[in-house]
Amino acid sequence: MRKPIIAGNWKMNGSRSSIKELLDGIKAGVGEVKSAEVVVCAPSIYIADVAAQLEGTDIAWGGQNLSTEPKGAFTGEISADMLLDFNCKYVIVGHSERRSLYGETDEIVAEKFEVARKAGLRPILCIGETLQEREDGVTNDVCARQIMAVIERSGVQALLDGVIAYEPVWAIGTGKTATPEQAQETHAAIRKLIAEKDASVAEQVRIQYGGSMNAGNAAELLAMEDIDGGLIGGASLKAEDFLTICKAAG
Ligand code: PEP
Repeated sequence: MRKPIIAGNWKMNGSRSSIKELLDGIKAGVGEVKSAEVVVCAPSIYIADVAAQLEGTDIAWGGQNLSTEPKGAFTGEISADMLLDFNCKYVIVGHSERRSLYGETDEIVAEKFEVARKAGLRPILCIGETLQEREDGVTNDVCARQIMAVIERSGVQALLDGVIAYEPVWAIGTGKTATPEQAQETHAAIRKLIAEKDASVAEQVRIQYGGSMNAGNAAELLAMEDIDGGLIGGASLKAEDFLTICKAAG
Protein backbone atom coordinates (compact mmCIF):
# COMPACT_ATOMS: atom_id res chain seq x y z
CA MET A 1 0.00 0.00 0.00
CA ARG A 2 1.44 3.36 -1.00
CA LYS A 3 0.72 6.16 1.47
CA PRO A 4 -0.71 9.12 -0.41
CA ILE A 5 1.26 12.35 -0.23
CA ILE A 6 0.02 15.87 -0.85
CA ALA A 7 2.69 18.56 -1.08
CA GLY A 8 2.09 22.28 -1.45
CA ASN A 9 4.52 24.17 -3.65
CA TRP A 10 4.13 27.78 -2.60
CA LYS A 11 6.62 28.96 -5.24
CA MET A 12 7.58 32.64 -4.73
CA ASN A 13 4.42 33.61 -2.89
CA GLY A 14 3.48 34.75 0.59
CA SER A 15 4.68 36.98 3.37
CA ARG A 16 5.39 36.27 7.04
CA SER A 17 1.85 37.23 7.95
CA SER A 18 0.08 35.42 5.09
CA ILE A 19 2.10 32.27 5.77
CA LYS A 20 1.16 32.40 9.46
CA GLU A 21 -2.50 32.68 8.50
CA LEU A 22 -2.21 29.87 5.96
CA LEU A 23 -0.47 27.53 8.41
CA ASP A 24 -2.94 28.35 11.19
CA GLY A 25 -5.71 27.29 8.82
CA ILE A 26 -3.97 24.10 7.73
CA LYS A 27 -3.10 23.15 11.32
CA ALA A 28 -6.71 23.68 12.39
CA GLY A 29 -8.02 21.22 9.82
CA VAL A 30 -5.22 18.69 9.33
CA GLY A 31 -6.68 16.42 12.03
CA GLU A 32 -9.42 15.50 9.56
CA VAL A 33 -6.88 14.11 7.09
CA LYS A 34 -6.97 10.37 7.69
CA SER A 35 -3.92 8.84 6.12
CA ALA A 36 -2.29 11.19 3.62
CA GLU A 37 1.13 12.64 4.31
CA VAL A 38 0.93 16.45 4.22
CA VAL A 39 3.92 18.59 3.19
CA VAL A 40 4.46 22.27 2.44
CA CYS A 41 7.42 23.52 0.40
CA ALA A 42 8.14 27.12 1.27
CA PRO A 43 10.33 29.87 -0.17
CA SER A 44 13.68 29.38 1.55
CA ILE A 45 13.62 32.68 3.43
CA TYR A 46 10.44 31.57 5.23
CA ILE A 47 11.53 28.04 6.10
CA ALA A 48 12.62 29.06 9.61
CA ASP A 49 9.16 30.52 10.27
CA VAL A 50 7.48 27.43 8.83
CA ALA A 51 9.65 25.13 10.95
CA ALA A 52 8.80 27.08 14.11
CA GLN A 53 5.09 26.88 13.32
CA LEU A 54 4.98 23.23 12.29
CA GLU A 55 7.36 21.66 14.79
CA GLY A 56 5.44 18.98 16.69
CA THR A 57 2.60 18.74 14.14
CA ASP A 58 1.98 15.99 11.57
CA ILE A 59 2.76 18.39 8.73
CA ALA A 60 6.20 18.10 7.14
CA TRP A 61 7.99 20.90 5.32
CA GLY A 62 10.62 21.30 2.68
CA GLY A 63 12.43 23.52 0.23
CA GLN A 64 11.75 24.16 -3.44
CA ASN A 65 15.31 23.77 -4.67
CA LEU A 66 18.82 23.08 -3.42
CA SER A 67 22.38 23.54 -4.60
CA THR A 68 24.44 20.66 -5.94
CA GLU A 69 27.33 22.04 -3.86
CA PRO A 70 27.77 21.45 -0.13
CA LYS A 71 29.12 24.93 0.75
CA GLY A 72 31.27 27.79 -0.40
CA ALA A 73 31.29 30.64 -2.87
CA PHE A 74 27.89 30.08 -4.51
CA THR A 75 26.07 33.35 -3.93
CA GLY A 76 22.34 32.96 -3.47
CA GLU A 77 22.36 29.17 -3.21
CA ILE A 78 21.00 26.97 -0.40
CA SER A 79 22.65 23.67 0.51
CA ALA A 80 21.10 20.38 1.59
CA ASP A 81 22.64 20.81 5.05
CA MET A 82 21.03 24.24 5.40
CA LEU A 83 17.62 22.72 4.64
CA LEU A 84 18.31 19.95 7.15
CA ASP A 85 19.38 22.53 9.72
CA PHE A 86 15.74 23.67 9.72
CA ASN A 87 14.43 20.11 9.79
CA CYS A 88 13.19 20.05 6.21
CA LYS A 89 12.15 16.54 5.22
CA TYR A 90 11.53 17.14 1.52
CA VAL A 91 12.95 19.23 -1.30
CA ILE A 92 11.53 19.70 -4.78
CA VAL A 93 14.02 19.02 -7.58
CA GLY A 94 13.58 19.63 -11.27
CA HIS A 95 10.37 21.63 -11.17
CA SER A 96 9.56 22.61 -14.75
CA GLU A 97 10.00 26.28 -13.84
CA ARG A 98 13.57 25.53 -12.77
CA ARG A 99 14.15 23.49 -15.91
CA SER A 100 12.74 26.10 -18.30
CA LEU A 101 13.61 29.40 -16.56
CA TYR A 102 16.90 28.49 -14.89
CA GLY A 103 18.35 26.04 -17.36
CA GLU A 104 18.32 22.93 -15.17
CA THR A 105 19.13 19.98 -17.38
CA ASP A 106 18.23 16.33 -16.71
CA GLU A 107 21.82 15.85 -15.50
CA ILE A 108 21.68 18.78 -13.06
CA VAL A 109 18.33 17.55 -11.75
CA ALA A 110 19.73 14.02 -11.32
CA GLU A 111 22.68 15.47 -9.41
CA LYS A 112 20.33 17.46 -7.15
CA PHE A 113 18.29 14.29 -6.54
CA GLU A 114 21.48 12.48 -5.55
CA VAL A 115 22.79 15.28 -3.33
CA ALA A 116 19.43 15.59 -1.57
CA ARG A 117 18.95 11.90 -0.86
CA LYS A 118 22.53 11.34 0.22
CA ALA A 119 22.13 14.18 2.71
CA GLY A 120 18.97 12.58 4.09
CA LEU A 121 16.37 14.77 2.40
CA ARG A 122 13.54 13.25 0.37
CA PRO A 123 13.61 14.70 -3.13
CA ILE A 124 10.33 15.30 -4.95
CA LEU A 125 11.44 14.69 -8.53
CA CYS A 126 9.33 16.65 -11.02
CA ILE A 127 9.00 15.35 -14.55
CA GLY A 128 6.62 16.03 -17.39
CA GLU A 129 6.14 17.06 -20.98
CA THR A 130 5.41 20.40 -22.63
CA LEU A 131 2.30 20.93 -24.74
CA GLN A 132 4.37 20.60 -27.91
CA GLU A 133 5.80 17.29 -26.69
CA ARG A 134 2.31 15.99 -25.88
CA GLU A 135 1.06 17.02 -29.30
CA ASP A 136 4.08 15.32 -30.86
CA GLY A 137 3.14 12.10 -29.05
CA VAL A 138 6.40 11.89 -27.07
CA THR A 139 5.04 12.29 -23.52
CA ASN A 140 6.25 8.87 -22.37
CA ASP A 141 9.65 9.36 -24.00
CA VAL A 142 10.16 12.67 -22.21
CA CYS A 143 9.18 11.21 -18.83
CA ALA A 144 11.41 8.18 -19.46
CA ARG A 145 14.39 10.39 -20.35
CA GLN A 146 13.92 12.51 -17.21
CA ILE A 147 13.61 9.48 -14.93
CA MET A 148 16.40 7.55 -16.60
CA ALA A 149 18.81 10.41 -15.87
CA VAL A 150 18.18 9.75 -12.16
CA ILE A 151 18.28 5.96 -12.46
CA GLU A 152 21.53 6.05 -14.43
CA ARG A 153 23.17 8.27 -11.84
CA SER A 154 21.80 6.81 -8.62
CA GLY A 155 20.32 3.39 -9.42
CA VAL A 156 16.66 2.42 -9.48
CA GLN A 157 16.48 1.74 -5.72
CA ALA A 158 17.28 5.40 -5.10
CA LEU A 159 13.81 6.31 -6.32
CA LEU A 160 12.44 4.97 -3.05
CA ASP A 161 14.29 7.70 -1.16
CA GLY A 162 12.08 10.26 -2.85
CA VAL A 163 8.79 10.82 -4.61
CA ILE A 164 8.06 11.36 -8.31
CA ALA A 165 5.75 14.18 -9.34
CA TYR A 166 4.34 13.85 -12.85
CA GLU A 167 3.50 17.38 -13.89
CA PRO A 168 2.50 18.02 -17.48
CA VAL A 169 4.01 21.46 -18.09
CA TRP A 170 0.92 22.61 -20.01
CA ALA A 171 -1.20 22.01 -16.90
CA ILE A 172 0.96 23.93 -14.42
CA GLY A 173 -0.59 27.20 -13.33
CA THR A 174 -2.82 27.26 -16.41
CA GLY A 175 -6.08 25.98 -14.95
CA LYS A 176 -5.92 23.19 -17.57
CA THR A 177 -5.79 19.85 -15.79
CA ALA A 178 -4.97 16.53 -17.37
CA THR A 179 -8.09 14.38 -17.33
CA PRO A 180 -7.94 11.58 -14.76
CA GLU A 181 -7.58 9.12 -17.68
CA GLN A 182 -4.73 11.10 -19.29
CA ALA A 183 -2.92 11.37 -15.96
CA GLN A 184 -3.48 7.70 -15.12
CA GLU A 185 -2.17 6.64 -18.53
CA THR A 186 1.11 8.49 -18.00
CA HIS A 187 1.46 7.41 -14.36
CA ALA A 188 1.01 3.80 -15.46
CA ALA A 189 3.62 4.24 -18.19
CA ILE A 190 6.07 5.70 -15.65
CA ARG A 191 5.46 2.78 -13.29
CA LYS A 192 5.90 0.31 -16.15
CA LEU A 193 9.22 1.90 -17.11
CA ILE A 194 10.45 1.58 -13.52
CA ALA A 195 9.12 -2.01 -13.33
CA GLU A 196 11.35 -2.94 -16.25
CA LYS A 197 14.28 -2.11 -13.94
CA ASP A 198 12.81 -3.32 -10.65
CA ALA A 199 9.24 -4.49 -10.10
CA SER A 200 9.35 -3.99 -6.35
CA VAL A 201 10.54 -0.38 -6.63
CA ALA A 202 7.80 0.29 -9.18
CA GLU A 203 5.18 -1.11 -6.83
CA GLN A 204 6.37 0.99 -3.90
CA VAL A 205 7.38 4.32 -5.44
CA ARG A 206 4.87 7.12 -4.98
CA ILE A 207 3.90 9.12 -8.06
CA GLN A 208 2.09 12.40 -7.46
CA TYR A 209 0.14 14.28 -10.10
CA GLY A 210 0.69 18.03 -10.40
CA GLY A 211 -0.88 20.61 -12.67
CA SER A 212 -3.87 22.71 -11.66
CA MET A 213 -5.09 20.15 -9.16
CA ASN A 214 -7.66 21.91 -7.00
CA ALA A 215 -10.44 21.35 -4.48
CA GLY A 216 -12.90 20.59 -7.28
CA ASN A 217 -10.93 18.07 -9.34
CA ALA A 218 -8.67 16.40 -6.75
CA ALA A 219 -10.97 13.54 -5.77
CA GLU A 220 -11.33 12.11 -9.29
CA LEU A 221 -7.61 12.41 -10.03
CA LEU A 222 -6.62 10.88 -6.71
CA ALA A 223 -9.04 7.99 -7.24
CA MET A 224 -6.93 6.71 -10.15
CA GLU A 225 -4.94 3.56 -9.44
CA ASP A 226 -1.46 4.91 -10.09
CA ILE A 227 -1.93 8.44 -8.71
CA ASP A 228 -0.52 8.49 -5.18
CA GLY A 229 -1.00 12.13 -4.31
CA GLY A 230 -0.54 15.61 -5.63
CA LEU A 231 1.96 18.43 -5.94
CA ILE A 232 -0.17 21.52 -5.58
CA GLY A 233 0.76 25.05 -6.61
CA GLY A 234 -1.98 27.70 -6.63
CA ALA A 235 -4.50 25.73 -4.56
CA SER A 236 -1.94 25.19 -1.78
CA LEU A 237 -2.08 28.90 -0.94
CA LYS A 238 -5.62 28.64 0.44
CA ALA A 239 -5.93 26.55 3.60
CA GLU A 240 -9.46 25.40 2.86
CA ASP A 241 -8.67 24.27 -0.69
CA PHE A 242 -5.42 22.60 0.34
CA LEU A 243 -7.19 20.73 3.14
CA THR A 244 -9.97 19.61 0.79
CA ILE A 245 -7.30 18.10 -1.46
CA CYS A 246 -5.50 16.46 1.48
CA LYS A 247 -8.76 14.92 2.69
CA ALA A 248 -9.58 13.68 -0.81
CA ALA A 249 -6.26 11.81 -0.77
CA GLY A 250 -7.32 9.84 2.28
C1 PEP B 1 3.30 23.21 -9.43
O1 PEP B 1 3.85 24.29 -9.47
O2 PEP B 1 3.96 22.22 -9.11
C2 PEP B 1 1.88 23.13 -9.74
C3 PEP B 1 1.34 21.96 -9.90
O3 PEP B 1 1.21 24.33 -9.86
P1 PEP B 1 -0.38 24.52 -10.06
O4 PEP B 1 -1.06 23.59 -9.10
O5 PEP B 1 -0.63 25.96 -9.74
O6 PEP B 1 -0.67 24.16 -11.47
